[in-house]
Amino acid sequence: MAQKYIDNYREKGARKRLVDLLEKKGIQDKEVLKAIGTVPRHYFFAETFWNQAYKDIAFPIGEGQTISQPYTVAYQTELLHIRKGDKVLEIGTGSGYQTCVLLEMGATVYTIERQEKLYEKTKYVLPEKMGYKAHFFCGDGSIGIAQHAPYDKIIVTAGAPTVPEILLKQLRIGGILVIPVGDEETQKMVTILKVAEHDYEKIVLDTFRFVPLVGDKAW
Ligand code: SAM
Repeated sequence: MAQKYIDNYREKGARKRLVDLLEKKGIQDKEVLKAIGTVPRHYFFAETFWNQAYKDIAFPIGEGQTISQPYTVAYQTELLHIRKGDKVLEIGTGSGYQTCVLLEMGATVYTIERQEKLYEKTKYVLPEKMGYKAHFFCGDGSIGIAQHAPYDKIIVTAGAPTVPEILLKQLRIGGILVIPVGDEETQKMVTILKVAEHDYEKIVLDTFRFVPLVGDKAW
């Protein structure tokens, strides 16, 4: 059955309640909350599962992958301190939900997914069905996308064993990398600010559980 793209009062109401919940859980950036309140998350779900779309949970999207939990998306996005016009590299496109949140905030997004089926689907659905335009790539994002560097911000939406040096090289000075780092079970959210060419400020934050980042500079 064809996927439906209808945003009615029921979904709008559920989205508003999700935003209220995220605020209660500690998300403060008004622009992040506004973006979450705008992106129709139910479009990423088959209609039978629309009642799950505005729960604060991750959900399967096929190929053994998940659409991230809204709190995780909000948390990572808040750490990026997005400004309009920021050039952002997203590693792990998945459903494209995080991509849409970044686009809503006025970022230019380069996004890379290693699973070809997800890449093909998202590259079609976002611009054609939802009107969200990003630069889509298929491949191993653990090595970044050197040809479009430097980036103002880099977000990794899968769990890495270590911080890939190569991603730090692709950051502009003053840029921020947000990446979950840990073992296959749990990861700590890490933010790294590139202060100067070889000078970084690292902060280790809360614990999350992501699918693994698989690639040359990853698992
Ligand atoms: N932000 C996405 C969303 O909202 O749907 C999250 C998707 S999921 C948590 C993480 C994604 O990272 C998966 O789709 C997975 O295939 C992808 N991935 C894992 N390793 C990767 C790599 N080396 N390069 C690109 N994508 C990768």
